[in-house]
Amino acid sequence: MVLPLNPNFTKTQTFIPVMQKIEHIGIAVRSLGSSVPLFEKLLNSRCYKTEKVETENVNTAFFRTGDTKIELLESLEADGVIARFIEKKGEGLHHIAFDVSDIKAEMKRLKDEGFVLLNDEPKQGADNKLICFVHPKHTNGVLIELCQEK
Ligand code: ZN
Repeated sequence: MVLPLNPNFTKTQTFIPVMQKIEHIGIAVRSLGSSVPLFEKLLNSRCYKTEKVETENVNTAFFRTGDTKIELLESLEADGVIARFIEKKGEGLHHIAFDVSDIKAEMKRLKDEGFVLLNDEPKQGADNKLICFVHPKHTNGVLIELCQEK
C-alpha cells in the first residue's frame, strides 16, 4: 500500500529528513548488575560506558552495535520513571532515540505538527547529549527521544 503524501509538503518544497538515524535504543531493566553481563553475552561486545544521569535519576550502560547504540536504563529511585515503567509494562523496550543536528528546530517542527513534547527545552541526557522526549500517546505508543551531540 502506498500512503498518500503529506499534503503539508508542496511539490516545490524539498523534503529533508531531519531524523537521520537511530542513535540508540533504550531498554528499561531492573538491574544493570545482571543486565550488563547478559547484554555483553548477547551482543558479544563489552559495555563501553556506564553513566549516572542526574536529570532522570537513572544509571545507564551503553553498548555499540554498528552505528547504533543500546542504552540500558536502571532506576535509582523506587518511584522514578523507569521504575514506574517496569511496574506497568515489565522490563523491555523503553524508547527509540533519533539523532538530530538541530534539536530546537526539530522540537519546533514536531510541536507545529501537533506532537506533544515532554519537555519544553532540551535537557542534559546521557552520553553528552541534549535530549527531548515526544509523548508516546501520539506516536503509536512508542516513546521517541531526540538527541543532539553537544
Ligand atoms: Zn535514550
